[in-house]
Amino acid sequence: MNPPIVKLIEKFQSSAAAVGFEVETFGRVAGWPLIALSRKSTTAKAQNIYLSSGIHGDEPAGPLALLQLLQDDALPRRHNYWICPVLNPSGLDARMRENAHGLDLNRPFSLSISLYYTYRRSRLARRYVWAVTILPAVRRPDE
Ligand SMILES: [Zn+2]
Repeated sequence: MNPPIVKLIEKFQSSAAAVGFEVETFGRVAGWPLIALSRKSTTAKAQNIYLSSGIHGDEPAGPLALLQLLQDDALPRRHNYWICPVLNPSGLDARMRENAHGLDLNRPFSLSISLYYTYRRSRLARRYVWAVTILPAVRRPDE
């Protein structure tokens, strides 16, 4: 495992915890942890926001930008957050678009189904079902 990617995941864990996020590991890919960060707002009727990044391993800008937001404590406290900051750690490690199983996580519409079952096996299942089902809809127009 590439030390910079291990450090990146550790930075997410420590930076998120420092600004009040709960940090959990909900699965593993090729030995790499898949982490989730969540924080509930104390604001009444807080909106739920799901963020994910690091889907394509050859595009590190998303995870790095998200890490910066956490380190700057720049996510407004008036929302509830569910964040999966590094969805393709093996791809980031190898600097490849696909994950360790050769899957482009931004391509197959069956992804939402496969992720659903991944999450369903975890104790985070219910909280993430809604977020997972919108993943195919949040692709950039040029992808
Ligand atoms: Zn991409």
